[in-house]
Amino acid sequence: MDMQMQLDTAPCGFVSISDAGLIQAVNQTLLNMLGYERHELLGQHIESTMSVTNKLFFHTYFYPYIRLNGHVNEMYFSFRTSSRQELPVLLNGVRQERGGEPFIDCAIVMMRKRIEYEKDILQTKTKLEQLYKETQEANTKLERLNEEYVQKQQELIKVNEELEIKATTDPLTGLRNRRYFQEQLIEHLNMFRTHDSPFSLLIMDIDHFKRINDTFGHPVGDLVLTSLARLLQSLARKEDIIARFGGEEFVAIVAEAGEGEAMGIAESFRRAAAAADWGEHSITISIGVSTAMEGDTEEAMLDRADTALYASKSSGRNRVTHSAKLAENE
Ligand code: GH3
Ligand code: MG
Ligand code: MG
Repeated sequence: MDMQMQLDTAPCGFVSISDAGLIQAVNQTLLNMLGYERHELLGQHIESTMSVTNKLFFHTYFYPYIRLNGHVNEMYFSFRTSSRQELPVLLNGVRQERGGEPFIDCAIVMMRKRIEYEKDILQTKTKLEQLYKETQEANTKLERLNEEYVQKQQELIKVNEELEIKATTDPLTGLRNRRYFQEQLIEHLNMFRTHDSPFSLLIMDIDHFKRINDTFGHPVGDLVLTSLARLLQSLARKEDIIARFGGEEFVAIVAEAGEGEAMGIAESFRRAAAAADWGEHSITISIGVSTAMEGDTEEAMLDRADTALYASKSSGRNRVTHSAKLAENE
C-alpha cells in the first residue's frame, strides 16, 4: 500500500512546515478538520490558520522551543477553520532534516472530546465536592440532634425518677408511702412463690397517739411521726422496706426473715421507740407480725398482721405479737 495514501487518511492531522513556517505538505485529515482544499494551504504560512492570540502563542513558544529541543510534545492550542471556528488541538512536532533541509513535521489531534470529558469530570468533581460538603453538614447536624436527644432523654429520665420518687414518698415523714409498700408486698410475694425466699410483714401503731395530739397539739404529733419514721429507718437493714401505712401506722417488709428473725427485728423496733428520748411525753408502739406462707395473698398477710397488732393492743400495748402465736392459742 502507498504510504502517502495511508498518511492522508491517518486518524490524525499531519502538516510539514519549513523553518519559516510555510506549509510544505498537509494530509487530508487535517484539511478536513480545517475545511480547506489542499491547494489553498500549500505554500501558505501555518499561522494563516490561526487567530491572533494563537499566532502570538505560536511565536512565543512553538518556534523557540522546537529550535532549541528539536521537538514539541503535547502542545495545546487552537487552529482557526475556514469557517472561522476555533478548533482546539493537541500537537506533537519534530524538527528533522530531509535532503539537507530542515522540516518541522507535526501530528495533530482534535481536542473537542477531551474538553468535553474534562468538563464532565470537572462537573462531577464539583458535584461530588458539593455532596461531600452537604453530607458533612448533615452529619454535623445529625450529631448535634443526637446530642440534644440524649440530653433530653436524660432530663426525661431524671424527671421520671423524680416523679416516681414523689409518687411513692410520704410527704410528712419522707418514708415510702402506702402505694409503694403495696407494690413491694406483691413483688415480695411473687419472689416468695418463685424462689421460696421467706419474708415477714410488720404493722406498727403508736400507742395512744390521740393523747399526744390532744395534749401537745397536732404539730407536735407530726414531729413525733417524723422522728419515729427516722428512728425506724435508721434501725432497718438495707434490704428492708419501711413505709408509712397511714395516720400513725407504719409498716415494714423484712426481707429473708422467717418468724424468729422477724420477731427479733420487731422487738428491736419496739424497744428503740420506747427507749428514745421524746421529751416531756413518752412514746411506745405496738406491733403485729405475719410471715409469708404457702398460698398467701397480700390481703391475707395484712389481715394476719393486723389481727396480731390488735392482740398486742388488747394485751396491754408496747408489745410485739406474731400471728402464728395467735393461731396456736386458738
Ligand atoms: P391506740 O393505742 O389504740 O392506737 O390509740 P391511738 O390514739 O393511737 O389510736 P386512734 O386511732 O384512736 O388515733 C389515731 C390518731 O392519730 C388520730 C389522729 O388524729 C392521729 N393522726 C393520724 N394522722 C396524723 C397525722 O398525720 N398527724 C398527727 N399529728 N396526727 C395524726
Ligand atoms: Mg391507729
Ligand atoms: Mg395508735
